[in-house]
Amino acid sequence: MNKLGFGLMRLPRLDPNDPAKVDVKAVERMTDLLLSRGCRYFDTAWGYQGYQSERVVKQVLTDRYPREAFQTATKLHCYFVNDKADRDRIFFEQLKKTGLEYFDNYLLHDMNASYLQRYEELDCFAWLSEKKQQGLVRRIGFSCHDSAEVLEGILRAHPEMDFVQLQINWLDWESEGIQSRRCYETAVKFGKPVIVMEPVKGGTLANVPEQAERLMKALHPDRSIASWAIRFAASLPGVERVLSGMGSEEMVRDNLQSAEEADTFCEAEMEVLRQAADILRRSPAVACTGCAYCTEDCPANIPIPRYFSLYNKDLKEPERTAMSSSFEYYDQLSQYFGKASACIRCGNCEERCPQKLPVRNLLKEVAAHFENRNREPEPDVM
Ligand code: SF4
Ligand code: SF4
Repeated sequence: MNKLGFGLMRLPRLDPNDPAKVDVKAVERMTDLLLSRGCRYFDTAWGYQGYQSERVVKQVLTDRYPREAFQTATKLHCYFVNDKADRDRIFFEQLKKTGLEYFDNYLLHDMNASYLQRYEELDCFAWLSEKKQQGLVRRIGFSCHDSAEVLEGILRAHPEMDFVQLQINWLDWESEGIQSRRCYETAVKFGKPVIVMEPVKGGTLANVPEQAERLMKALHPDRSIASWAIRFAASLPGVERVLSGMGSEEMVRDNLQSAEEADTFCEAEMEVLRQAADILRRSPAVACTGCAYCTEDCPANIPIPRYFSLYNKDLKEPERTAMSSSFEYYDQLSQYFGKASACIRCGNCEERCPQKLPVRNLLKEVAAHFENRNREPEPDVM
């Protein structure tokens, strides 16, 4: 089986302002292409795509393919669970939404030290083991968004977990915050298969600064920039699956080819990645993956990842003026949603951000950038 997995969280939309309006026909075409090339793994979750992602599984897979043709993973997030009864309520609703009789993989979602406490209080580990014993789930695991130390503690306390899902990418390989390498090595030490999430860091590693792009293209002129990220993750021993949140057939084709070409990285390639990572770390761009967890609880209804994406796009413009299309798009968005300056600094978003971004301060930058039209052009960075 191809190592690539389809992350059903950045699907093409019929309405760009509404994640729940998924372009199902486009997802059907992407699914057909993936299955025809041996990619059979589909990863969804309760909250993805405005709570509609699991229904898309039914539409594009369950209703169109025999069960053995594909594998599915979904998740329980303690954020949606108020009491123990909610665990079953959500689980059986997930089976109904997907039209499935069992899930291949089921995960406790977005584990970190504070959510771990909540998952323990709700007895979710034992609950999930029961689901496995009942044949409603084939394998159980969790996605981890914390340090290698926290991961090790969970794996020691819960040897019943079959696999772990980790944020692994070449930019965060040696980072102190995400700790990709250390978390990966911990999972391998415990003999757990690894499923990689965010290998392209929400698109950040598909669209690198020009200086980094030049280095990568010099070594592999015919390969896309994103292919480095997919190949890097897929080349690691012990990595069973690499999830990519693909939004178009073009991305599917490129990711498929990259996963098929994955092989051990040579020293010259690793050196290019080390240099590119240095360049990215010096770049002013916001390292937001677009997961949108931060928007769930924002009292000011600020479309945080969309503002960060516009801001990043504008920082890359060689000549920054108040006339760029990002400014127009910012104005349009802020008619429907809160402006960046509407942030009341409650901090809800930062508690939920898996990338540990200082969202409140970054929004101040975004507000200064987009809401101050009379400003002088900023000096070029990089
Ligand atoms: S700190 Fe600002 S952006 Fe974050 S949740 Fe609160 S109001 Fe929203
Ligand atoms: S700010 Fe954090 S939580 Fe929000 S979309 Fe970006 S990475 Fe995700």
